Amino acid sequence: MLFPNPLRQSKFCKSENVIVVQQCYCPNGHNLISSKAIFNGFDGIIIKVKDEEKKEEGLVALSPVYGYKSRVSLDIDLGQDMIWQMYCPECDEPLATYTDCSCGGQMVVMFLDNKFEFTNCIALCNRIGCQNAGIKYGNELLTCSSLELGPK
Ligand SMILES: [Zn+2]
Ligand SMILES: [Zn+2]
Repeated sequence: MLFPNPLRQSKFCKSENVIVVQQCYCPNGHNLISSKAIFNGFDGIIIKVKDEEKKEEGLVALSPVYGYKSRVSLDIDLGQDMIWQMYCPECDEPLATYTDCSCGGQMVVMFLDNKFEFTNCIALCNRIGCQNAGIKYGNELLTCSSLELGPK
């Protein structure tokens, strides 16, 4: 650990206004946090993205520091406005989608624990240029934007 985690039980650690995601899972339970990409000293989230039409695929690293939006392409060229399908790099399972994003993309979900419920999850838009993202943890809802993750 790089700094003490006051909220170990809740899978996040909070330091002032930042929340760091320390574990998140694909629908088959693979941890997507990887030391292959480090953001601000924290292990990043690695997902596989595919463009079925162009038959392109590659790995993308997402910052685990919530509020610090950063996506880094590891081996593909990410078009700013492209919509990518997102997969687990381990088992190739498509990540679940939660809802449509207002930009026309879809909110893709990574689970925060192995119950695989939408109550504890991170959601982010699969259009690369879109900043919509949110973390839902029990009754706590943290959003980066006006997006509402709760049931309508
Ligand atoms: Zn997996
Ligand atoms: Zn979007």
